[in-house]
Amino acid sequence: MRIILLGAPGCGKGTQAAKICEKYDVPHISTGDIFRENIKNQTELGIKVKAIMDSGNLCPDDVTCELVKDRLSKPDCVNGYLLDGFPRNLFQATELEKFAAPDVVIDIQVNLDKIEKRITGRRSCPVCGGSFHIDFIGNTSICPTCGGELVIRKDDTPEVIKERLSVYASYTEPLIKYYADKGVIKVVDGDGSIDYVFEQICNILG
Ligand code: ADP
Ligand code: ZN
Repeated sequence: MRIILLGAPGCGKGTQAAKICEKYDVPHISTGDIFRENIKNQTELGIKVKAIMDSGNLCPDDVTCELVKDRLSKPDCVNGYLLDGFPRNLFQATELEKFAAPDVVIDIQVNLDKIEKRITGRRSCPVCGGSFHIDFIGNTSICPTCGGELVIRKDDTPEVIKERLSVYASYTEPLIKYYADKGVIKVVDGDGSIDYVFEQICNILG
């Protein structure tokens, strides 16, 4: 099954993605994670995209599409994949159609008022890639999964969040209509608990 997760920053895509991949046994492909990994390892790509990511803007389409195309050609993707953070604009969506059109696109809808609180309370683990909220883990700097040192992502500050939300509204939100026209969109209510959101997703995926 080829699945795309859509939704505004802070809608819980990453959390749900991990649960979906475990249950349905498909690889989790997060372009944000791939970029962050490249920044951490100071690769050529990482150096190229760091300032863009820190400002909340989109990385260039050509490198992003190339990276996803390459990742989707790996053997673990033959039975499907879960894309998290890609496509993020219409250009990327039409490129994706050329090599691996999705079966289902799940749009996680959240109340925009809650997003800032969700993101500013987010703590990320650079070691295992986990992402947690202080409402659940408390005021700790230790990753509950692997014991690594938690950090606040550079783009999780109020100013950058504003920019990310604006980028989302301008470039990514139009994808909802794009996929609705193709008849593959499914909407879930992202405002409830993690389990409630996951239950709706399982009802869609079967
Ligand atoms: P979010 O928590 O906002 O969903 P991600 O981890 O998915 O964040 O992405 C973080 C940043 O990585 C984006 O703001 C953007 O700079 C870059 N990025 C991720 N995916 C893409 C993409 N498909 N196209 C362009 N830039 C991307
Ligand atoms: Zn960890």
